[in-house]
Amino acid sequence: MSIVEFKKVTKRFGQVTILDQVDLSIEAGEKVVLIGPSGSGKSTLLRCINALEEINGGDLVVDGISVKAGGRMVRMIRQEAGMVFQQFNLFPQMTALENVAFGPRRVRGESHQDARKQALDMLAKVGLADRAHHYPSELSGGQQQRVAIARALAVKPKLMLFDEPTSALDPELRHEVLRVMQALAEEGMSMIVVTHEMAFAREVGTRLIFMEGGKIAVDGEPRELLANPRNPRLKEFLQHVI
Ligand code: ADP
Ligand code: MG
Repeated sequence: MSIVEFKKVTKRFGQVTILDQVDLSIEAGEKVVLIGPSGSGKSTLLRCINALEEINGGDLVVDGISVKAGGRMVRMIRQEAGMVFQQFNLFPQMTALENVAFGPRRVRGESHQDARKQALDMLAKVGLADRAHHYPSELSGGQQQRVAIARALAVKPKLMLFDEPTSALDPELRHEVLRVMQALAEEGMSMIVVTHEMAFAREVGTRLIFMEGGKIAVDGEPRELLANPRNPRLKEFLQHVI
């Protein structure tokens, strides 16, 4: 069974069509890298998977649950699909540990002690065990983003969605975030990553998707597409990002 299945999904904002009858099937274990010009619908596609945006047409099934099912089912989908944003979005008044423990407490209803223990494990996993009691303002951007990844993982998702996770970071801080993502990929996590990091696409991605105007224009094997982008618009796009 696919972990994510778009069936002719349409998403509009007002009169404007943002996702145009998208068909896309992603199997468990795939590492999909999603690229495309600004405004092509990449963030919207991710946000529909997580039911942060409602779809207007077609159907979208995440781990067997339709995003149209509503209510409790939508909460289940949000547990299955962890999301990491460009701007970290940590709670500033909470320590790293409290940020990471928040999900297990709130979403999974775990005890204070269990949530705390899991949060510590997750912080260790992203290399930040020694920063557990720091506030976001006391952490570098790269560390904050790793806390955000730990926070998403603490809810035990089956799928991770990354929306330009390194775009807000200085170049020298990007690799620590990319390394954590790569380790996660090597453990077998299914992921969809919107990024301009083509080295990541080449080395970690198992599939590269190029979006344009709300449609999937190219879908293939990353190394092959990057070495020989036959689609002229993909070729031009790559000349600008590399
Ligand atoms: P990308 O991530 O590829 O840059 P987005 O999915 O963010 O693209 O946006 C695609 C288009 O949808 C853009 O033209 C954007 O202005 C529009 N859009 C995104 N979110 C909203 C919204 N909440 N309301 C209206 N238009 C939106
Ligand atoms: Mg975007």
